[in-house]
Amino acid sequence: MANTQRPAWLKDGLVFVGHWEPMIYRRRGGFAGTDAEEHYLREHSEEAVAKLADLGVNLVITHYHKGFGPAAEQGEYHLLRQLIRLCHERGIKVGVYVRLDTLVYETLLVEKPEIEGLTPGETARLTAGPAVSSAEPDSWFQVNLNGQYPVYNDNDSGALYYRRQACPCNNDYLSWAEERVAYAIRDLGADLIHFDGVMPFLEGYQCYCDRCVGEFRRYLQGKYADPELAKERFGFSNLSQILPPVYAEHPSHRYSPRLIRIVKDPVMQEWTRWRTEKLAAMHHRLSRHIRRLNPEVAVEVNTLMPLDHNGYFWSGLDLPMIADENDCMWTEDEHWPRLTDDGILISRIREFKIGRTLKNIIFSYHRGRNPAELKLSMAQAMAFNAQTIGMVGSMPPDEEDWPNRSPLPGQPLAEWPSQYEVKRQQIRFFRDSFEHYADTESVGGIALLRSRYALSYSMTAPHHHALLWEQTLIQSGLPFDIIFDEQMADLSKYQALVLPNVDCMSDEMMETVRQYVEAGGGLVATGETSTHDLWRRRRPEMGLRDVLGANARLGGDPHHATRHYCGKGRAAYLPAILTEADLSDAASFRSSYWKLPLNVRAMREAVEWASRDRLPAWLEGPETVVAEFLTQPSLGKHLVHLVNFDLSRARHDLDIKLRLPRGSRVQSVMALDPDARRPERLRAQREGQVSTIRVPSLDIYRLVVIATTQASWQR
Ligand SMILES: [Zn+2]
Repeated sequence: MANTQRPAWLKDGLVFVGHWEPMIYRRRGGFAGTDAEEHYLREHSEEAVAKLADLGVNLVITHYHKGFGPAAEQGEYHLLRQLIRLCHERGIKVGVYVRLDTLVYETLLVEKPEIEGLTPGETARLTAGPAVSSAEPDSWFQVNLNGQYPVYNDNDSGALYYRRQACPCNNDYLSWAEERVAYAIRDLGADLIHFDGVMPFLEGYQCYCDRCVGEFRRYLQGKYADPELAKERFGFSNLSQILPPVYAEHPSHRYSPRLIRIVKDPVMQEWTRWRTEKLAAMHHRLSRHIRRLNPEVAVEVNTLMPLDHNGYFWSGLDLPMIADENDCMWTEDEHWPRLTDDGILISRIREFKIGRTLKNIIFSYHRGRNPAELKLSMAQAMAFNAQTIGMVGSMPPDEEDWPNRSPLPGQPLAEWPSQYEVKRQQIRFFRDSFEHYADTESVGGIALLRSRYALSYSMTAPHHHALLWEQTLIQSGLPFDIIFDEQMADLSKYQALVLPNVDCMSDEMMETVRQYVEAGGGLVATGETSTHDLWRRRRPEMGLRDVLGANARLGGDPHHATRHYCGKGRAAYLPAILTEADLSDAASFRSSYWKLPLNVRAMREAVEWASRDRLPAWLEGPETVVAEFLTQPSLGKHLVHLVNFDLSRARHDLDIKLRLPRGSRVQSVMALDPDARRPERLRAQREGQVSTIRVPSLDIYRLVVIATTQASWQR
């Protein structure tokens, strides 16, 4: 892990607005109205900034670099400077937008004609020949195998032909990107760089230029310099003629990457590794550049956080790698918190929990069709995101009303406050109670592993198991963290480890798990866990057989986990996660699939048995109330956030259970609610090591603050 010093101001609790399209793009994109100029001026006005201060906003993300080039974009810099000055006068930080992956050739080639390099035909010819020749002209644009320039959103519809993808291996282009970043920091005074568009490696649309092909070949030759190793991996040892995977153009063609379910081709596997490492290296290069220029400037990146499909393979995205030298990460998921009519609880809890593990603040939008939905959205962020609410509107912040003020046709209009008023009230609560949000840690409990190899080389089972385990834990009132391979090095704060169909495991990974269980940890494994190595080669026998026991079989009973004692620990195994819909071929696991599994009871029982009644905290309540369990160790405080996703009714008599260390006891309990005038004092009842705190009612959100006589739950 890189030991990155984060900018201090990120701890202030971020509440922000954003408006990142410059006027040039509003016009070129065809979405500027006749009053666009007037509106644009208002966005940069003193009046707009005053309103931000009133709303409680402390960060604005504004336009800067859309890829038209500075000659075309600099006409807007005076307004940008004005906005930054007005914001800084009121203590509001300013982030600027930097588009990384697309370039608008219509203006950029006027300014820099030399970056075109090859014509498309020449490039196509060259890709079939030997890699890397330093004499070749240096195009900044990606070229595909047909000699075409891949463009933004290059799928079957909505392609913006005038925004070409930039080649990720072009050093001149990356140096130019560094210059653009330096200008924003040195000359404009930006406090945060918002990188948008980090998708140069969309599988099937990637660059086949000689630079990219050459870099990939050198990567293979370096990694498999030992001819015996190369032979074991590929069947031969001279790797000088390998190309990145080649697909047919048509999406329904049988070579389309969209149809792949298992990545077993060794070149395709290495291509996935190279793309993820290359993208992280690109990001880290820019990130280190920013830190060198000013360590108080934050680095933020829009990865979209692909969690419901194989983002490693489709997009070359490895979140923990990127996050290592990054501060804030955008998700643009569709996971608006709600309970659907068929009872599916949809949330952004995964994204927020991953942010906490990776020490990245998650940026997301808030919306709601009525005050309750908006409050739920903001509550979810307050409960699960690390001391950050996120984006509460655009610029200038306006007093919009709800789109459907009347609950039913013919009914009188509801007496609702404006969205602005609701946001303002929630933000005020967050600020007034900020001491309870600052510097918190998870209590531990259950660790659920999202392992990069299993998730990279399959589109289906490892993803289904990870998402459904997360859903089960979210809706079970149990404390849990989502961890990655990097966190396996220290599992000491967890009472149980869940391996959701982690089929690809190395001997080292299995040894880590073995030692954890032997020392007293609990293990729950499902599906094909440990059946393959990191090249996804099948083992003749399950690698964790000795830990999971002889009865752990794929054909076993999915309603009853097998139980096995191993050293001081316990290991449970379930062969399958049962769902109503047949998911076996689903490569994108959208929220409509997030219904609790049919064998959810067996999953919960397995976790409870494996953790041997040692979990530090849990909630006894309905499946539609979710809880986050945090601590402020230095203050001896425990924070339990309760969020009710069922907006049709309030909940009553929820029991928070705390297992306090010997000698420690609850001193006081306060329940805070953004909609209540003052905190409610609650009582704790102790039985043995477990204290029960009954929460008499929950509308949407309550934060229960528990002061104890001992600083830590961790034993
Ligand atoms: Zn390239």
